[in-house]
Amino acid sequence: MIYFDHLVETSSRKSLCSLQIEKLHSMLQKINGSNRFYTKKFDAAGVGTKDIRTIQDLPLLPLTTKAELVQAQKDVLPFGTNTTFPESAYSRFHQTSGTTGTPLRVLDTPESWDWWGRCWGHVLAGAGLTENDRLFVPFSFGPFIGFWAAVEGARQIKTLMIPGGGRDSLQRLSLMKELGATAMCCTPTYALRLAEAAEEADFDMGGITLQKLILAGEPGANVPATKARIEAAWQAKCYDHAGASEVGAHSFECESQPGGTHIIESEFIVEVLNPETLEAVPAGERGELIITNLGRIGYPVIRYRSGDLVRLNQEPCACGRTFARFEGGVLGRADDMVVVRGINIFPSAVENLVRRCEEVEEFRITVSTEREMGNLAIELELNNNSNPDKARNTVEQAVRNDLSLRPEITIVPYGTLPRFEMKAKRFHVKNI
Ligand SMILES: [Zn+2]
Repeated sequence: MIYFDHLVETSSRKSLCSLQIEKLHSMLQKINGSNRFYTKKFDAAGVGTKDIRTIQDLPLLPLTTKAELVQAQKDVLPFGTNTTFPESAYSRFHQTSGTTGTPLRVLDTPESWDWWGRCWGHVLAGAGLTENDRLFVPFSFGPFIGFWAAVEGARQIKTLMIPGGGRDSLQRLSLMKELGATAMCCTPTYALRLAEAAEEADFDMGGITLQKLILAGEPGANVPATKARIEAAWQAKCYDHAGASEVGAHSFECESQPGGTHIIESEFIVEVLNPETLEAVPAGERGELIITNLGRIGYPVIRYRSGDLVRLNQEPCACGRTFARFEGGVLGRADDMVVVRGINIFPSAVENLVRRCEEVEEFRITVSTEREMGNLAIELELNNNSNPDKARNTVEQAVRNDLSLRPEITIVPYGTLPRFEMKAKRFHVKNI
């Protein structure tokens, strides 16, 4: 088994908690008084750094929302008030992809960039990567933090990193083949898109020696039908990873693949709360991930409401790591859920049903709501030589059985639906 930091990853829960509280203390001392955003929040809540003695005291600190960070940015343009050091201390700028509103700008110091790399080192080593691998990163290196940090992680574990930006899918496939890439980091959507591009161009995927795909940026590697489809297309294993620009790279799937992702507990403290009552939920129950990062002193988030829904599992893992896990990875976003005819629907649940139908190449889901009623429309694009009636029946039956809903299914011609390279948007909600 490959580890990034064997001692830390296999230490006892008691040692992990001690490490977390030590790092938290150190961070609070550095930011209180220097970081305008958090100093104001702590003062308003009437809590001082001395009040936090153990992990159990963490709930004394106020929660942080993305809206607050965005507001802090608007108040003091361009970087906001959640900065601990003078601007000259920062060496990297990134911003969120802006899929859910105003892009949030984030800054990193050389130390916090090193921390990002350490977290990605856990992700890559977790998937078993070593200095003997060749990691292909087909990503256009814009302001979105995405796989920038993967590059730093690859440097830390001494893996050969092959940048794959600035070229089309076929050129990327050729480069992977020529250089003998053994692993690739991309979104699940793009893993499927690359395989589709190979098929369209009759490109021989057999010559690619890829063994591992580390997938991030959106759900997919944790959606069983999507994962199975990617693994079949590439004849390689998929590893799930989750993170966010404002939080860091926080969880990864290990080689034992217990059906979830490990949280890098040496760099983060996680809590799981009921998103409505904000009370802690028992282990194993679904709730909102509240996360505190411990190594990004220049741009910290403390008790941050991620909006992601997770289930915490602290059972031992066959890989030997003691880091707790998110069962099934990040299950979805609290604000992604829609109600159709009284039934709660998450996009990933519908995706899992649609992808199980082998004939489906691409799809789009539109939920329209009209007062309490609602309609689930699914457009399907099928691969060549598929039987449209069979595909329609398969998806309809799956949705009826699993979600107790009768979907409205339309088969559209091949090439009609949009293709995506980064975060896909296949789920749409229309309020009528
Ligand atoms: Zn494990």
